[in-house]
Amino acid sequence: MTDTPSRSITSLADEVDALLARLGVEPGRHKGGTLVARTPITGEITGRVHEVSAAQAAVEIDKAHAAFLEWRQVPAPKRGELVRLLGEELRANKEALGRLVSIEVGKIASEGLGEVQEMIDICDFAVGLARQLYGLTIATERSEHRMMEIWHPLGVTGIISAFNFPVAVWCWNAALALVCGNSIVWKPSEKTPLTALATEALFARALERFKQAGGPAPDALSVVLFGGRDIGEILVDHTKVPLVSATGSTAMGRAVGPRLANRFARAILELGGNNAAIVTPTADLDLTLRGVAFAAMGTAGQRCTTLRRLFVHETVYDTFVPRLKRAYQSVTIGDPLQAGALVGPLIDHGAYSSMQKALDAARAVGGHVLGGERVALAGADEAYYVRPALVEMSTQTGPVRHETFAPILYVMTYRDLDAVLELHNDVPQGLSSSIFTNDLREAETFLSARGSDCGIANVNIGPSGAEIGGAFGGEKETGGGRESGSDAWKAYMRRATNTINFGRTLPLAQGVKFDL
Ligand code: NAD
Repeated sequence: MTDTPSRSITSLADEVDALLARLGVEPGRHKGGTLVARTPITGEITGRVHEVSAAQAAVEIDKAHAAFLEWRQVPAPKRGELVRLLGEELRANKEALGRLVSIEVGKIASEGLGEVQEMIDICDFAVGLARQLYGLTIATERSEHRMMEIWHPLGVTGIISAFNFPVAVWCWNAALALVCGNSIVWKPSEKTPLTALATEALFARALERFKQAGGPAPDALSVVLFGGRDIGEILVDHTKVPLVSATGSTAMGRAVGPRLANRFARAILELGGNNAAIVTPTADLDLTLRGVAFAAMGTAGQRCTTLRRLFVHETVYDTFVPRLKRAYQSVTIGDPLQAGALVGPLIDHGAYSSMQKALDAARAVGGHVLGGERVALAGADEAYYVRPALVEMSTQTGPVRHETFAPILYVMTYRDLDAVLELHNDVPQGLSSSIFTNDLREAETFLSARGSDCGIANVNIGPSGAEIGGAFGGEKETGGGRESGSDAWKAYMRRATNTINFGRTLPLAQGVKFDL
């Protein structure tokens, strides 16, 4: 462990209590339970939340189904009004919830606030969407007929979320599901129950205001189930849940996907990434340095879109990589609540040991590792701060092919664009990707059918940090789901094709004759 000069961190448990009270959470909800909440900033315990039993979870899901039967009857623009009120609550409580996110996950202050802003943005998007759940009319081959498609509410939407975006992922799903006419059941990460409690309280306030204004809203419209994997499994297996949107590791998706398929339920799987960027000979290296540094080191490497593989053209390698190394050596690591810190802690000891294992594996296959060591902070002995690691590799092998959820950037050199595109795509994951170039041909090739095979492909922007307007998700072992913007809402509804005959004859399709 190396020592970094820093101020001593004081206890955060009292501040958490105050924030939860401000956000409307009763003390009884976060004291005396069995689900232990900790802050990775100091490692101290910040709450003990009550877990739901498997039997209670099933009852709650049944109630959410009953709520769906009512909610689907409410006109979509009225449903949007509830989401508008949720957005108002989030705006009014952005500071407190953002701070709580920073404390519970260890994000730097601007990222904690940014997560809440993302919730606000998707609420705005969903409010507009509530008046745009369009179907099509389709030309029919039969005279005096009309054919159209219409979108109906689907049912209970199950949401399983990961620790690293503890509340935004709920909101991406919840805002769309609610305007689409569904009820929602959320199983938050067991590592982040306090932000889930706060979000539940803000939603309850929005629902109360909606009801006071005469809005018809059933009570179990939104349910939160606190617990671990076993409770997630209840949600996945419940026959009254036609859609589960599950965000987390590929291992989780491998367990959840077949169970949903087995009962023909829909899945939106948002799983691990192994995101890459290509730095070409014409790249603007100043811009690239900032893009790469944020994408690789930001959020301490704990974003699904974190940059993990970097291919640098051999003609710029010796200029660019030493600059990047200097950034790695000088980046400020420390208490994420303090101004100036850019890299906060890892979530827990498990994340730290996975990181060390991956670095050992990289060394074993010839990787040259810079950084990666634990950084000591006074007053935070139970916390896991690390210097982000930059690993120079000669080939894409061993740990480079896997996602390690920690700040490790594997750097490789390349000569030829076609060859590097092949390498870029030659990993099991397919979430996000970037090219840094001022060459139009290279940029367009990267975005073309023979370019990046990821769900997100960027030019002159790092792979991390998406806007809610676009559909978000990835291919291959990333799971194939799409949520948030564009037409992602269609996954939350069921489509019916309607054909109406307004004539007096009964022509059959394809000219079939069936004259009695
Ligand atoms: P995790 O897989 O350990 O847990 C995620 C959630 O799944 C938790 O709520 C957990 O209780 C639940 N869960 C685990 N196994 C389950 C099962 N068999 N049945 C039902 N529920 C189950 O992930 P994590 O450590 O919290 O988060 C980090 C991972 O999430 C990384 O791999 C990261 O890339 C991924 N992630 C992906 C996206 C995306 O949009 N693609 C976004 C955020 C995080």
